[in-house]
Amino acid sequence: RLVVSMRNVSKQFSNGTLALKDMSLDVRRGEFLSLLGPSGCGKSTALRIIAGLGAASAGSIDWPSSKINARGLPEGDIGFVFQEPTLMPWQTVWGNVYLPLRLQRVSKSDANGVIMETLASVGLADFTKSYPRELSGGMKMRVSIARALVTKPRLLLMDEPFAALDEITRQRLNDDVLRLWRETGITVIFVTHSVFESAFLSNRIVVMRARPGQVYADLPLVTSAA
Ligand code: ADP
Ligand code: ADP
Repeated sequence: RLVVSMRNVSKQFSNGTLALKDMSLDVRRGEFLSLLGPSGCGKSTALRIIAGLGAASAGSIDWPSSKINARGLPEGDIGFVFQEPTLMPWQTVWGNVYLPLRLQRVSKSDANGVIMETLASVGLADFTKSYPRELSGGMKMRVSIARALVTKPRLLLMDEPFAALDEITRQRLNDDVLRLWRETGITVIFVTHSVFESAFLSNRIVVMRARPGQVYADLPLVTSAA
């Protein structure tokens, strides 16, 4: 079962930069796919197109397992984690994770169960009433992951999520992401420029190269971790 299907996708920005050229990629349900490549090779651009956050200049993208809305985009089926946690400083941890459910008009009392369950799954059960400024970088990232997972998406997209964190925190988060993936069966696309991270986490590595951004190698892996 395919979750995402990209066919010959190209992306040219208005300044003329050709960020992607003829990229094709099928992502199957349950995969933990790393998109690996040097800075500037088009990983983020590809991920944003997969998320429906940016349009392709040419080619097509399809989400065969998702409900598609009137604008041709997948509805509520994709969680996105950025490198910057982008939390709302005036909201508690609980309030930040509530946001996607609030946008779906779920009441606070109806949301509370799934919010508490999701916060527990990322190790934040005791921090629901904390504010972002009281949390370390790793904890803020956990809030951001919880916010992406609280709507129970089928596909989780992560764009170099741990690049700004220290090595120990990063490895703890990698362990936790791997555990969440095993427990939930969610499909993950994880953008990184770390060969180590991609090998540790994934069961498939798609290597990209730059100028123009293209898939260079597509490696199915059987690792002890995955
Ligand atoms: P990566 O995520 O692999 O670092 P990006 O997808 O961010 O790469 O960028 C791919 C290329 O497109 C780079 O050359 C980058 O400078 C360029 N680029 C990214 N976003 C824009 C934009 N909004 N306008 C113009 N060029 C862009
Ligand atoms: P309202 O703002 O509508 O009065 P509340 O803030 O009282 O709603 O929250 C309603 C539900 O959300 C309750 O079940 C409450 O336990 C839960 N809730 C709200 N804020 C938090 C929080 N910071 N930590 C844990 N649960 C919370």
